[in-house]
Amino acid sequence: DALNQSLSELRDIDVSFEFFPPKTPEMENTLWKSVERLAPLNPSYMSVTYGANSGERDRTHAVVKKIHTETGIPTAPHLTCVDASKDELKQIAQDYWDSGIRRIVALRGDLPEGTEKTDMYASDLVSLLKEVADFDISVAAYPEKHPEARNDQFDLLNLKRKAEAGANEAITQFFFDTSVFLRFRDRAAAAGIDLDIVPGILPVTNYQTLQRFAGFTNVHVPGWLHKMYEGLDKDDQATRNLLGANIAMDMVKVLAKEGVKHFHFYTLNRSELSFAICHMLGLRRQG
Ligand code: FAD
Repeated sequence: DALNQSLSELRDIDVSFEFFPPKTPEMENTLWKSVERLAPLNPSYMSVTYGANSGERDRTHAVVKKIHTETGIPTAPHLTCVDASKDELKQIAQDYWDSGIRRIVALRGDLPEGTEKTDMYASDLVSLLKEVADFDISVAAYPEKHPEARNDQFDLLNLKRKAEAGANEAITQFFFDTSVFLRFRDRAAAAGIDLDIVPGILPVTNYQTLQRFAGFTNVHVPGWLHKMYEGLDKDDQATRNLLGANIAMDMVKVLAKEGVKHFHFYTLNRSELSFAICHMLGLRRQG
């Protein structure tokens, strides 16, 4: 009751939605239906992920441009630096700036297999982008530690470097234990990290895919979540969606009560769950 009461008093909630470039005409159709469904909620931005080869870069750019021109919503490309030279990165950033893009999600990207070192980390990319133009910059943060980081403190100092290089918000890796996020937010504040720490919410529609993601991202999947999806792998998608929405709604209620004002949704190009959760947060279609 107390949670629902505080929910009804929420004001000024901001959301952002993340998509990925579609690989087939069918997936393309799903993406645009989702963009059309979510855009009227007036998110502060929509972002588009970026994969580790140049074909994907072009697709990211095309999707970013189309979302931006068709919806008028600020659109943020993700950009990684492990697979490009500094000159290339500067050129890409300049092209984005010239086509009206004002926010970039700046990442290192995953190292190619067999590689352990890199010349550029995300903090270096943030500095490079700021040299090109005064972008708003989002970076990644890891409440449960990035898998390669030596320890929690080292990873936190890395986040601080990204802030000092000019980032203004950090989107977290997905998580399921809200206390893990809240502790991380406290630790970041105590370390003097001047960033808006935005929880990345993954509404789960497919538990098997989630297990794969969680495995390589160092995200803990609690036992209760496993139990929740037990026996449902081949069951009706609608049932799994109801559970996924319920889990995410419980999380955002707790976080909103703890003062979180901005939520980032990993939509996986689907709108149903994110739309319902945003509705619960008080967002309504505009115009
Ligand atoms: P960094 O912040 O550079 O950190 C990477 C690792 O290096 C950390 O362990 C850090 O502690 C360590 N480190 C930093 N500096 C140093 C140093 N000087 N010496 C030694 N170690 C150091 N990937 C994609 O390919 N495309 C995407 O679109 C994409 N979008 C994402 C969006 C979000 C919100 C998140 C959370 C992740 C995303 N990723 C994406 C995944 C991301 O690229 C990987 O997690 C990657 O392994 C790390 O990227 P980073 O920007 O966090 O790197």
